Parts: sequence; structure tokens; C-alpha cells
Amino acid sequence: MADEHEDLEVVEDADWYVDDDGTEYFIDDDGTRFELGDDGYAYAVEDAAAAEDDGPSPFSPDAEATGRDADVTTEIPTVRVSAREPEPVTEGSDAPVLLELDNVKSGYGSLPVLHGVSATIRQGETAVLLGLNGAGKTTTALNICGALRTWDGTITFDGQDITKWGTKKAVANGIVMCPEGRRVFPDLSVGKNLQIGAWSQRKERDYAEEQRERVFGYFPRLGERVNQLAGTLSGGEQQMLAVGRALMAKPKLLIVDEASMGLAPVIVHDVFEIVRQINQDGTTVLMIEQNVGALDVADVGLVMEQGRMVKELRGERLRDTDEVTSVLMG
Ligand code: ATP
Repeated sequence: MADEHEDLEVVEDADWYVDDDGTEYFIDDDGTRFELGDDGYAYAVEDAAAAEDDGPSPFSPDAEATGRDADVTTEIPTVRVSAREPEPVTEGSDAPVLLELDNVKSGYGSLPVLHGVSATIRQGETAVLLGLNGAGKTTTALNICGALRTWDGTITFDGQDITKWGTKKAVANGIVMCPEGRRVFPDLSVGKNLQIGAWSQRKERDYAEEQRERVFGYFPRLGERVNQLAGTLSGGEQQMLAVGRALMAKPKLLIVDEASMGLAPVIVHDVFEIVRQINQDGTTVLMIEQNVGALDVADVGLVMEQGRMVKELRGERLRDTDEVTSVLMG
């Protein structure tokens, strides 16, 4: 598919700001102001109006300007991570398989939800699992991390059959999930929340401290707020803390469930970029998303519908978001 935005200039590492009207913008080296349009691309300010529709701005006001928690929006528009060239992705990487689901069936009580889910994630990949509400994405993740019993089929991780493993064994072996809705402990400090993430390795001396420093490398803001109660962080900071807490267990496979949920586009952008960095530093990632913008950081896109995997997109097909949006539009 021809990308209507392919002529846009590539801008990397721009510093984004939010003005009093809640408009996100950056200023380039020539002093030109670019504003983020509703389609997730930035436009020079005289063109910005053309990118807007008549609806309310999806962007929330700046927290520091208003003193309110600014990260939460009621609507999650698709965010392109950046207007950069897509990274070349090889069709069919030859890295060893890290996770394999073969015809997995599962559900709640007697209610079947997964009707035979099969998928493969290779070492070093970022996989993005997309699908409508209720498609079975979280149920799939719960099966992988041992929190929900697999009725039938097999799950293999790092060469071992983990189908019957519980969460404790899964975490100890490197499968760590950052749950939907963040679920940080609001009455504990940032530091304590992180320490809890290192519980599985609590007997290893210096482990928690080393991991904490690594987490602060990705999320400097958590380092600045180490003694602050988690419940007083903004929505975006809580999401960062939730990812940081999962990182404390040193995952081989990091599962991040709906990180973009309820966050302003600029914060979603940050979270996706950090997930990209975590992956580039060697952690295999499975992101569960409804935001197709996550495909910008994906090596493989998996699309679920009604408890089945209906598409696996790699290489150039990943950039053709029409394939995915057709499913997500229902
Ligand atoms: P969402 O994006 O809304 O989280 P999802 O694709 O992650 O959607 P799941 O959370 O896996 O979907 O839910 C799949 C189906 O399982 C839904 O029909 C849901 O109602 C049902 N379900 C989820 N959790 C439970 C539960 N604890 N008990 C019973 N049914 C459940």
C-alpha cells in the first residue's frame, strides 16, 4: 500500500511540549513549530489545522501547567511512534524460537475463550498482539505466564514444555507480565514497588540494586521520585513504574498488557520508545495492544479475533496497517 505520509520529513529525537491549550508541539532547528495532528503525524504549524478534525482534541493538558494528572484521556488515538523511516525487518528471522503456542485452548470456568491459538515468537523479537476487546489477548498472556490453566494444546518456552507451569515457576524462568491497568501498589513508594518486582531473586546479593539502576536508566523520572508514593504518580509515570517493576525480575520475555491504555499520545510514544530500547538491549517482548501504532516497534504483528489467531504479519506487511485495522474495525 502506498503510504500517504511517505513524503514527510523524518524527524528523530525531537523534544515535545504541551501548550496551555493542550496541543503537543516541537520546534525544529530552524525555529519552525510543528504540531501533532489527529492522525499522529506532526505538521508545520500553518498546516496543523488541516490535520485536525472538528472533534475535541484527544490531547490532555500539561500536568505541570495545570497541576492535574494530565496523562489520562478517555480516547486513545493511534499514535505513530515517529515519522521516521521504518526499520528494515527481515522476513522470517532465523533466531531460535523462544515461545511457541500450539493449538492452545483455555477459558474461565466452563466458558471457552481460546479456541486453538497458535503463535511463534523468536528470541530478540518484539511481538505485538492486537485484537478487539474480548478477542482473548489477555487470556492468551495469562496462559503463557501460568496464571490460567491451559485446557488443551502446548506452550513451549526456551525449549521447555511450560504448559502446566504456574506463575512462580514462570517468573523464576524469565516470563514476566506487566498487567493491564498498571496495578502498582499505590500506598508504597516507587522504590518499594520496584523492590517487590525483584522478589523472585531476593536471595541474590546486590541484585535488586543493580536492577533498580537499570530501571532508572530507562525511566530517569522514577529515579527522581524513588520515595514518592506510587498512587500519587501520574498515569504515565505509573505505567513506567509497572514496566519497571516487571523489569526488576530480569525477564527473558516481557509481556506488557495494554501499556497505552488511557495515556495521552505523547506518553504512549515514550512508552513504546522505551519498550523498543528494552528490546534492543536483548529482552524479547510481547506487547498486547489495541493501538496499531505499536506496530512501529514490532518485528511481528499477531492479530486475534474471537479466541483465534487470524493473522501473523512480518516484514513489509507489518507496515500495511490496513490489514490490521480491517480486523480492529470489526
Ligand atoms: P481487552 O482488550 O478488553 O482486555 P482481550 O482481548 O484481552 O480484551 P480477554 O480479557 O482475554 O480479552 O477476554 C476474552 C473473553 O474472556 C471476554 O469475553 C471476557 O469477557 C472473558 N473473560 C475475561 N476474564 C474473565 C474472567 N475472569 N471470568 C470470565 N470471563 C472472563
